[in-house]
Parts: sequence; structure tokens; C-alpha cells
Amino acid sequence: TDAQFDVVIIGAGASGLMCAIEAAKRGRKVRIIDHANKPGKKILMSGGGRCNFTNYSVEADNYLSHNPHFCKSALKRFTQWDFLSLVQRYKIAYHERLHGQLFCDDSARDILDMLLAECRRYGASISLQCAVQRIAQDAGGGFQVHTNQGKLHCQSLVVATGGLSIPKMGATPLGYRIAEQFNIKVWPTRAGLVPLTLQPHDKEVFSALTGIAVPCEVSTQNRSFRENLLFTHRGLSGPAILQISSYWQPGEALVINCLPDRDLLAELKQLRKQGSKFKVKTWLGELLPKRLLPALLSEAMLECALVDCSDKQFRQISDHIQAWHIRPNGSEGYRTAEVTIGGVDCDALSSKTMESLKVKRLYFVGEVVDVTGWLGGYNFQWAWSSGWCAGQYV
Ligand code: FAD
Repeated sequence: TDAQFDVVIIGAGASGLMCAIEAAKRGRKVRIIDHANKPGKKILMSGGGRCNFTNYSVEADNYLSHNPHFCKSALKRFTQWDFLSLVQRYKIAYHERLHGQLFCDDSARDILDMLLAECRRYGASISLQCAVQRIAQDAGGGFQVHTNQGKLHCQSLVVATGGLSIPKMGATPLGYRIAEQFNIKVWPTRAGLVPLTLQPHDKEVFSALTGIAVPCEVSTQNRSFRENLLFTHRGLSGPAILQISSYWQPGEALVINCLPDRDLLAELKQLRKQGSKFKVKTWLGELLPKRLLPALLSEAMLECALVDCSDKQFRQISDHIQAWHIRPNGSEGYRTAEVTIGGVDCDALSSKTMESLKVKRLYFVGEVVDVTGWLGGYNFQWAWSSGWCAGQYV
């Protein structure tokens, strides 16, 4: 059956629901469509089931984009405090973790239920298991969305289809295809916030360390993060690796400082001066997980007494522990990635409204846009902010 709406939003995820609420508040007749059997699946699985829904500190520097200024306007117009006041109005219990990250006390379900309640309250409707077959532009400038449930007509069309991560949850490239259909540039995409895999030799050495977490500083040429690194049977993970993975380029080495707060070389020299008979492994074993040491230093080095070590040996120790170079083989890809880097070109959109500059009344919001946040609630904040902005204009 044909149906007429002011606004059709493709994608009942974080950004699509936020956009729908705001548009419906303005009295627009809104329909959200999604091919999944339930809305907001990624919200439910986010933050280990507790949804890290925003962060106390949100800056443009927490995002990757070919246009690093683009996100500023939306993030300023609908801030973390604005989202937080919605959460508080719904009396959802939350808490702060490291680095200002805000999580639900109970369940990510609280956030999704809040968004769905707001949709109901303002009259935005949702069609699930609705597959988009084709999109066409009306002569009048509106759009026709052909689906397996019939044809929808709308004045404004919002693409909120998210990124490519976790294909099992229903991620598809539809949003990128729609952009391409209208000759809107799409930057190449790749997995972000993703565990990294190791070269076969390294994998053999480090898989023995599965389960060990080391607080460290991980760097690429232009970024560093101080967080936990976790060894897994597949390679490297943990927040430090997820963060740096978004900046890491294939072929590049990571530099890892396992003792970022110390001047190891100076301390070793001081101990030698004091005549310390401790073995290298005994002394380092107090500072680092003992199982890590043989992966980084030779047996002979570990057995050496501090008093007998040469300057060269000390330099090797500090190099291997404070500037450990490791060249990952690749990433685990979209299967386990939290986000997709790249996407719809920011320069093709208005930063105020998210409307395409070329195609009037066509909007892109959320992760489908070339704005990718760090780990820590930044991706949801972008979804809320960009969805909210589009909702004021659609
Ligand atoms: P989504 O929320 O992904 O919604 C897109 C919607 O579009 C989906 O409902 C999908 O079914 C629908 N869709 C896709 N293709 C089609 C199609 N062809 N036809 C119809 N509908 C379609 N970010 C944080 O900030 N904090 C976290 O704690 C966090 N945890 C995460 C944990 C995991 C495991 C993952 C995978 C991601 C996590 N993220 C987190 C990232 C965050 O979930 C996303 O950035 C955010 O959901 C993006 O919102 P969106 O609205 O753009 O897309």
C-alpha cells in the first residue's frame, strides 16, 4: 500500500530514533523503517550490555574524519548534557567510569526503552522487517521509497543506516549505496575500534600470554593512548588497542611502552650503582606480569644480575619494555569492530542540518557519515547530536 509521510528515516538505530523524536516533536508525520526484526539492536549490545551512552568530555579531537571540523556544530548544538538531561528525566540510573565514560547501572535496554517511549509520545511510527528495494526522487523534489511492504512517499528522507560493523546484527552498506546513487562522495571504509591480529611468529610467542592485561601507552606515528592492552589467543585487544586501531595503518608498527610512568634506564643504572644483586627478571617481575618478560627479553638477559649488566644491556631492556615495536598483521575486521571509519563525505553535507548540499531534503546522520568517535561513548554522542540536528529541519 502507498503511504504518505513528511519524513521517512531508514534505520531504527541510535541516530534514526533521535531524529524521529525531534521531527515528530515539530509535528512532522514520521515513519522509521528498518529491515531488522527489532529496533536498536546495537544499543542493546553496546558497552557490554550497559551502553556507554555518552562522555562527560566531548571534543572534536575525540573524532576521526577527513573534515575534523565538521562534527563541531552538531556536538555543540545537542551536547552530552542535553542527552544526560533526557536520561535523568527518565530516571535512568547511570554511573561514571574511567575517562568520563557514562554507563547505565542496569541495562542498555533502559536507553532503548527511553527512545522508543519518546517516539510513541510524539507519534513517530516504526516499520520493522521492512527492506528497501529502490529509492527514487519525485518530480516535486520528494522521495519514493520502494520496500517489501509497499511504497512510501516523503518530503524528506533521512539515511540512518549506520556502519558495516557486526554484519550479524544487520549492518549493510545501503546508506553508502544511497549516497552513491545521488553522486555524493563516500570515503573508503574500514573497521575501527577493533582488535588487531599478529604475524604468525608473533602470534605464536604472544598467544602464550592470553588473558594478561598490561596498562601501557600504545602509539602510532601521530597518536598515543594510555589504557590496558590485553593479549588474546587471536592477537592484541583491550581499550589501548581498540583506540589505536582506528589510527593504525596496515604495515605500520605500534610502539608500546609497558612502563609509561618510569625512567627505566635511569632506575637500572641507579640499582647497578648500589650494587644490586637482583636478577633482571626478579626486579622487572615486581613491575610487570612475570609471563610477559620472556616474550620481550632473552633468557640470558633475564638471568643477568643488575650489578653485572652493561649499559648496552640496560638500553636493550628499556628499548624492549618502553619502546616495544610490534607490527600487527591486520585487524579482526567488521566481524568484531565497534565502528566503521570513513563513509559519506562531510563536505557534501551541511554541518548544521546534515542535509546534502546537492540533493535537497536528503539527510545523512550517525555512523554512515565520515565521523568516527573514540571508544568511550563518543559514537553514541555523535548519533544523538547529528540525529537531533537533522530532526530540527527535516
Ligand atoms: P545503528 O545504531 O547501527 O543503526 C542502524 C540501523 O539501520 C540498524 O537498526 C540497522 O538494522 C538498520 N539498517 C542497516 N541497513 C539497513 C537496510 N539495508 N535496510 C533497512 N535498515 C537497515 N558506541 C558508543 O558510543 N558506546 C558504546 O558503548 C558502544 N558499544 C558498542 C558495542 C558494539 C559491540 C558495537 C558493534 C558498537 C558499539 N558502539 C558504541 C558504536 C555504536 O553502537 C554506533 O556507533 C551507533 O549505534 C551508530 O548509530 P547509527 O544510528 O548510526 O547506527
